[in-house]
Amino acid sequence: MKVETVDKTKTCEYCDGKGYFQLVLGGSETCPSCEGTGKKIDNESN
Ligand SMILES: [Zn+2]
Repeated sequence: MKVETVDKTKTCEYCDGKGYFQLVLGGSETCPSCEGTGKKIDNESN
């Protein structure tokens, strides 16, 4: 049984935890999903 050490539940899947996208043409754009935090927003709060 493999244990997942990386907590993907708290890492934004869109920007891979970076908080922004690296544009091909140059520059960067803030991730609209995590709003630049790099962390996945938990909508399933208790
Ligand atoms: Zn993100």
